[in-house]
Amino acid sequence: MEINEVKYREMLNTILEQCKANLPRVSEDLVKKAFKFSFEAHKNDRRASGEPYFYHPYEVALIVAKEIPLDDISVVAALLHDVIEDTGFDHKLLSNEFNQEVAEIVNGVTKMSGIFEGHEITQAENYRKLLLSMVRDVRVILVKFADRLHNMRTLEFVPVQKQRRIALETLEIYAPFANRFGLGRVKWELEDLSFKYLDRDSYENIAKQIKSKRKEREAYLNKFMSPVIKQLDEYKLKYEIGARPKHIYSIYRKMVKLNTTFENIYDLLAVRVILESNDPNECYYVLGIINQLYKPIADRFKDYISIPKKNNYQSIHTTVIGQDGKLVEVQIRTRKMHEIAERGVAAHWKYKETYSGADKELEDWVNWVREIFENASKNEATKEILASFKLNLYQDEIYVFTPKGDLKRLPINSTPVDFAFEIHSNVGYLCIGAKVNGKIVPLDTILHSGDQVDIITSKNQHPNKSWLQFVQTHKAKSAIRKYVNKEEERIIITGREIWDKKLKKYKLIFSKDDLNRLVRKLKFENQKVFFTAISRNEIDLDKILNPVEEKHEIETPEIEYETFAQLARSDGGGGVLVDGEHKGIHYIFAKCCSPIPGDPIIGYITIGEGIKIHRKDCNNLLNMLKHGEHKLVPVRWPNSNGTQFVAGIKIKGQDKPGLLTEISNSITNYKNTNIKAVNISTSDSMFHGTIAVYVSDLEHLNRLIERLKKTQGIYSATRFDINN
Ligand code: MN
Repeated sequence: MEINEVKYREMLNTILEQCKANLPRVSEDLVKKAFKFSFEAHKNDRRASGEPYFYHPYEVALIVAKEIPLDDISVVAALLHDVIEDTGFDHKLLSNEFNQEVAEIVNGVTKMSGIFEGHEITQAENYRKLLLSMVRDVRVILVKFADRLHNMRTLEFVPVQKQRRIALETLEIYAPFANRFGLGRVKWELEDLSFKYLDRDSYENIAKQIKSKRKEREAYLNKFMSPVIKQLDEYKLKYEIGARPKHIYSIYRKMVKLNTTFENIYDLLAVRVILESNDPNECYYVLGIINQLYKPIADRFKDYISIPKKNNYQSIHTTVIGQDGKLVEVQIRTRKMHEIAERGVAAHWKYKETYSGADKELEDWVNWVREIFENASKNEATKEILASFKLNLYQDEIYVFTPKGDLKRLPINSTPVDFAFEIHSNVGYLCIGAKVNGKIVPLDTILHSGDQVDIITSKNQHPNKSWLQFVQTHKAKSAIRKYVNKEEERIIITGREIWDKKLKKYKLIFSKDDLNRLVRKLKFENQKVFFTAISRNEIDLDKILNPVEEKHEIETPEIEYETFAQLARSDGGGGVLVDGEHKGIHYIFAKCCSPIPGDPIIGYITIGEGIKIHRKDCNNLLNMLKHGEHKLVPVRWPNSNGTQFVAGIKIKGQDKPGLLTEISNSITNYKNTNIKAVNISTSDSMFHGTIAVYVSDLEHLNRLIERLKKTQGIYSATRFDINN
C-alpha cells in the first residue's frame, strides 16, 4: 500500500498514541522529526513484498513502543535504524540532526546487522568487539530484536533459500540471546517463527493438533481452576488466572528430547496465576491454597522467587495432581514478575521509571555479556571465544553450594574445577581434588544442582592442560589457558638458557640456520619443541654437542620405505625404527596396551590402517596372533623427541586426611610430571584408585611408581593399562 498524505498522518498518530500509552515520557517533536526523516530517507526503497520500505522501520518502531516499551529514544532509534545502512546518511549527520545518543544506538544496530549476518568463526574477534561496544547501551539490543522480529514476521516474501538461513540464524543466535535478556515473549515468537520456516510440516502438524484438542483442554482446565478461583476470591486476592499458552517450538523440542508423541507432552496441562499486588508473599499464599486442593509432586517444585534465574526470571512452579490423575503445572507470580518474564530489560526499565547508571539489576544483565568477553585475553583464539559465548547462551544453569552454604550458579555440566575458579582464581589454580557431598570425586565429575562442593587445594598443584577438556565456564577456560601458555613459554626460555650455557661450555657457535638444521635432524617440529625438550631434560645435549663420544647415537639411519617393507616381510631381526616421519608409513600406538618408550614393542600390520604398535606382552595382541595371520614387524623406539605418553598407575592404601595432596605432590614434584586424571574411591578406611600421568618413558613411569610406593599409607602401586 502506497503511503499518501492520509496514510502518513494515520501512521504517525498510531506511533504517537502507542508512545504515550506505554512510555513514561515522550518528546513528540523528536518522534515526529525521526518519522519524517526516515520516511524521506527510504522514499525510493521497497521491501521484498513490494510495499514501500518505510513500513519496516515504522513497524519496528511500533514493536519497540508497544511490545518492549522502553523510552522515546529507542522509538526514535528504531525509526532510523536502517538509515545508515540503506541510505547515504552517516553517524555524524544523525548526531547533528538528532543527538549523540540516537546516533550511537543507530550506529550500534547497523554494526550488529553486520556481525550477526555471517557469524563465522573467523569473525569472532569482530563479534567480540562489537558486542562489547553495543552492550554499553541495551537499547541497541532491543531495537535489533524488534528489527529481527519484524523481519521474521514478514519472512514469507523472501526467497526460500534466504528464509532458511535467516530462520536458522534466528533460532541459533537471536532467540537464546533474547532469552538471556529476559525477553520471554520475543524469544518464543522468534522460535515459533523460525521453526515454521525450518520445518513447516512439523510446525503445521503440531498447530493442527493443538487446535483439535482445544475444547477438551479448556473444559478440563475450567474444572481444575474453579475450586482455586473460589478460594482466591474468598481470600480477596486480586489476580488473573488462565491456561498458559503453549508454544509450538517448545512442544516440538520436548517431543524430540523425550522421544515421545504429541499426546504425551500435551497431557501436561499448565495454568498460570498472576497476582496484581507486588507482594511476593501472596505467591506463597496461593501456593498454599493450591497445595491444599491438589496433591503436589515433590520433586517438581521450583522456587524461582527465592532464587531468581540469571536473567532475573521469578516465579513459583509447582506440579500437582488434578482431577482424573492428570498432572497440571501451576506457575504463580506477581504482575511485575510476569512483565519481567515477558519483556525483561524493557519491563525492568518501566518499573524503575528512569534509567540511571547505578541501577544494579540492569547492570547485572548487561554485565554477564561483558564478563564473557572481558575475561578473554587478546591472544586467545577467537574461535574459542565464540564457542564459549555460544555455549553460555544456550546453557541452562545449576545451583551448587560451598561448604558454608553459599550459593554458586554455574552452567550445566560444570565440574569441580569450574566451581573452584568460580570461588577464586587462586582456588582454581591450586585445586587438586574435590569432595562432593562429602565424597572424594575426580576433578572432571559433573556437578548437579544441590551438590555441596568442597575444593581441596595444594600449593604444589598447577592448572593442567587436560582440564580444558572438561571445564565449562569461560572463567576457568581462560584462566587455565593463560596459565598453560605462560608455563610453556617459561619452559622454552629455560631450555634456551640451558642450550646457551652448553654452547659456551663446548665453545660452539650456532647460527640460526645451524640450529634449524639440528632441530630438523633431531626430528623436532620446531625450535620451541626442541627447547621444551631440553628444559624437561628429555634430551642429552652433551651427547649431541660433543660428537666425539657418541657419534653413532645421533646418526639414526634413514630407512627407506623399500627396506622397511622388506624387513616387515622378513618377520625377524630387529632394530627397525618406526618414526612418524618415515615416508608414507603410518603407525599408531595400540590403545589396548598404550606402550611408552622403554617398553619392548612390536608392530602389527593392519591393511589400510598402517602399523599398530603393541607392547610385546600385550594380551590383546597375543589373542590376535592365535587367530589369523602373523603380520608382525619389528620396531624400536626412536630417540626421544619430547613426546609425552599417558600411562596409568593403580594404587591401594590406607585412607587418611591429606592423602590426595600427598599423592599428587609426590607425582608432580618429580620432573614436573603432569597428572591427567585421578580417580579415587574409598571404602571404610581403605582407598583404591587410578592415576593417569604424562610420562616420557618407562623409566619415568617406574620412578614415579617407586616414589608412590615409598609414600606413607600406600600399600601398593602398579602399572595399569588405562584402556583395559
Ligand atoms: Mn531493519
